[in-house]
Amino acid sequence: MPSAAATHQTWEVIAVRHGRLLTTRGDFYLNYSGYGQPDGPLELAYWIWILRSGSRTIVVDTGYSSDGAQRRGREVLIPPSEALEALGISPDSDVDLVVTHAHYDHIGNLDLFPSQPVYLHPAETAFWLGPDSCHSEFQAVVDDADLARLRQVAESDRVVWVDAPREIAPGVTVVPFVGHTPGQLVVVIETAAGRVVLSSDACHLTEELEADMPFKHNTDLIGLFRGLAKLREWQGQGAIVVPGHEPSVLGNFPPVEGALAGHAVRIG
Ligand SMILES: [Zn+2]
Repeated sequence: MPSAAATHQTWEVIAVRHGRLLTTRGDFYLNYSGYGQPDGPLELAYWIWILRSGSRTIVVDTGYSSDGAQRRGREVLIPPSEALEALGISPDSDVDLVVTHAHYDHIGNLDLFPSQPVYLHPAETAFWLGPDSCHSEFQAVVDDADLARLRQVAESDRVVWVDAPREIAPGVTVVPFVGHTPGQLVVVIETAAGRVVLSSDACHLTEELEADMPFKHNTDLIGLFRGLAKLREWQGQGAIVVPGHEPSVLGNFPPVEGALAGHAVRIG
């Protein structure tokens, strides 16, 4: 686990639920039939996260695009562009962007940040922009238009590569968690309520973490299991682990009022 921040800078985390999907347990969990459990409904929430401390803002992921959502039957509750605008974030804002991984529901609106620094794992772009991702198993979770924008970022001078744990601001550390994808990143934030871990898709749901039941899409199952174990270890040390698609986050933390009422909560 990253060492406690040396400074006293603390952050607040705004989690915005921009979308939703009602699916089934059988469709979500990897090899679900092997558990001998009945199938049943399962709800997924789609989030973006905004970290703020003083004058600094870090945006974690950009959600899915309206095209990406429509093609897959995902519900758009509030477009990420509107949510960011409600928080005073515009395309020319002085913010940093962390891209946790390249799936359609995490990089769908990269064009909202045309010039800002972008933190990315080099293994993520190497995989998705390279030949090994050609298989339909992988292509199902990415969109060409998103990857074209990702390529532009990766080839620009605003990319900041992260292939080892790195404190990107005092109190915010980005940590590689290989498993769900080759360059999955987890974000660890020091808040007034303690350490918050945005797991993104290193863990989608609380049940996935507690029952050690992976989601169906992975590129490295051993790494995925190691990541779940590490998240449980951090939880045991007192960290608040926020799974990347957990719907109950909306009810478990204080709501954000105003334009984002019903869509967002404040963590820490
Ligand atoms: Zn996701």
